[in-house]
Amino acid sequence: MARHPIAIVGDASTTALEATLANGEIMELVSAATEELDGSDHSEPTIAYFSPEFGISSVIPQFSGGLGILAGDHLKAASDLHVPLAAVGLFYREGFFRQSIKGGAQAERYPAMTPEELGAVDTGHIVTVPMPGRDVAARVWRMDIGGTPLLLLDSAVAANSKADRKITDRLYSGDRRHRLEQELLLGVGGVRALRALGWPIRVYHLNEGHAGFLVLELVNEVIHEGRLEDAISIVRRGLVFTTHTPVPAGIDRFERALIEPYLAVWASAWGVDVQDLWKIGADPVDAKKFNMAAMGLRTASAANGVSALHGEVSRNLFAGVGVGDDIGHITNGVHARTWVSEDNQTVFDQVLGPEWAEGSPAAWDRVESLTDAAIGALRHIGSLRLAQLAQDTIGARINPEALVVGFARRFATYKRATLLFHEMKRLEKMLHDDDRPIHFVFAGKAHPADGPGKKLLAQVVAFADSEESNGRFTFIPDYGIDIARHMYEGSDIWLNTPVRPREASGTSGQKAALNGGLNCSILDGWWAEMYDGSNGWAIPTSDVKDAVRRDAAEAASTLDVLDTILSEYHEGRAAFAGRIRHAWRTLGPQVTAARMLAEYRDKVYGPALTRVG
Ligand SMILES: *Cc1c(COP(=O)(O)O)cnc(C)c1O
Repeated sequence: MARHPIAIVGDASTTALEATLANGEIMELVSAATEELDGSDHSEPTIAYFSPEFGISSVIPQFSGGLGILAGDHLKAASDLHVPLAAVGLFYREGFFRQSIKGGAQAERYPAMTPEELGAVDTGHIVTVPMPGRDVAARVWRMDIGGTPLLLLDSAVAANSKADRKITDRLYSGDRRHRLEQELLLGVGGVRALRALGWPIRVYHLNEGHAGFLVLELVNEVIHEGRLEDAISIVRRGLVFTTHTPVPAGIDRFERALIEPYLAVWASAWGVDVQDLWKIGADPVDAKKFNMAAMGLRTASAANGVSALHGEVSRNLFAGVGVGDDIGHITNGVHARTWVSEDNQTVFDQVLGPEWAEGSPAAWDRVESLTDAAIGALRHIGSLRLAQLAQDTIGARINPEALVVGFARRFATYKRATLLFHEMKRLEKMLHDDDRPIHFVFAGKAHPADGPGKKLLAQVVAFADSEESNGRFTFIPDYGIDIARHMYEGSDIWLNTPVRPREASGTSGQKAALNGGLNCSILDGWWAEMYDGSNGWAIPTSDVKDAVRRDAAEAASTLDVLDTILSEYHEGRAAFAGRIRHAWRTLGPQVTAARMLAEYRDKVYGPALTRVG
């Protein structure tokens, strides 16, 4: 497993370090890398990006899933494009859990980490956030992601009570009060941290509603004599909101009895009725709930979903709520240099030119000059690496002749990791076909509190271990950035079977596509707009209302499509290489985070900066 460079250097012997320093070749690489980092833009940030999680690298485990990975890619692309952006999050000393499989079920552990050993630097600033009966303090740590600064708030400071030191202990864990206090710290403390750094921030971007309480502090800065509405209309100009889920369970909501005392702290300071603050986040449906997405939509001047389909679904879902009717969309993308394997990058740099990573259509057009043999060789290296990983982690053997089908994501129930089990007979037959071998590789974590998700995971593990799967269905534990990269590199097919339209975007298929994996997916999220009929496969969806019958129908369709793919793969590798070439040419320009960030810059940040004036 990869380790943080600081940990590696910390453990190295003096002789080893001296030998490294004396090695001219290594030191040349180091100074070139340093120069590259220093070459980044150091203009002061004017845009602040708030997110509860950031997936930066496998050695900085401060994320749980797609939202965090997207946030990490956003920062890297902002750095590449010199967009003057600063990011704000929390530092979780126990991060998100590490997964192992015990007795056929998910086991969780939380290794402790310190900001220092992950390379964070103490800014020397401590901010405080008012909560009922006390102030909570947080230290402000800083990491630089290329040229983009990331501030991380950490409540494990001496000034806090023992309980308050644990507010930032883990990501998405604990009870609702714990979550509420984390989000207050992130929103309010985040704005105070930006002020402490003295940056001229004018635009605030909420990556999902979790940091929405930043509005409290922004209002606090401009409110006069109880004129709450006036203060909000000033704040609104610079506030933009991205919604990430049409699934109600994915949206943060707080019980009225829980949140009111926290809101009352601000209401009494401003001389307003707590009811007026409550109204900002009142759930449109459930009168007892405070809804963070509703709060975002009522206080922002612009909002967007993360794919064309998701934008449409969100406009319906949030009709009449603030800017809900005007929700646009910017489709997610992925940071190419993070997710494309080294081997692929080397070939792309040589044949397509380095601008492929920025999504240049002209560069991607040059894939036409990549021969079938070159494509085959690249795919082969990737599949060997994945086979090695499967061997090393759980002793599984992958037949090099098999069509490798990858599936890795959170075990949220709507993603339907067990969809194919609805057609068990056909699946087993496919797994026993020696003429057209197939191998499924699955990975993913279920949220520790998600009982149904954990049940799906146990079913997948049980099937992988069963006679019936014929050793051709492998579950790799402890899904994270490292394992994800191996899977994108080594899967011929990337399988995605969500209940349409619940996958707001999804990004794992984009990462597979850049590595030459072909998507086989329900037409949901990003795929609904980028599938062109031949750059991968679409799994037909069923209109049946009954969920069990719908799943059975879609399982059958998925196996039909996999059958077609198996024939094509095993009958003619040339046709397959042709498809990969076509997928690269059509998807390469669309799926990069560079394209996404340019859209945020031009359609969201630019107009917001103009509104603020
Ligand atoms: C890309 C990625 C995700 C998001 O995948 P989805 O397609 O949104 O399910 C989650 N976790 C990791 C480690 C990733 O690399």
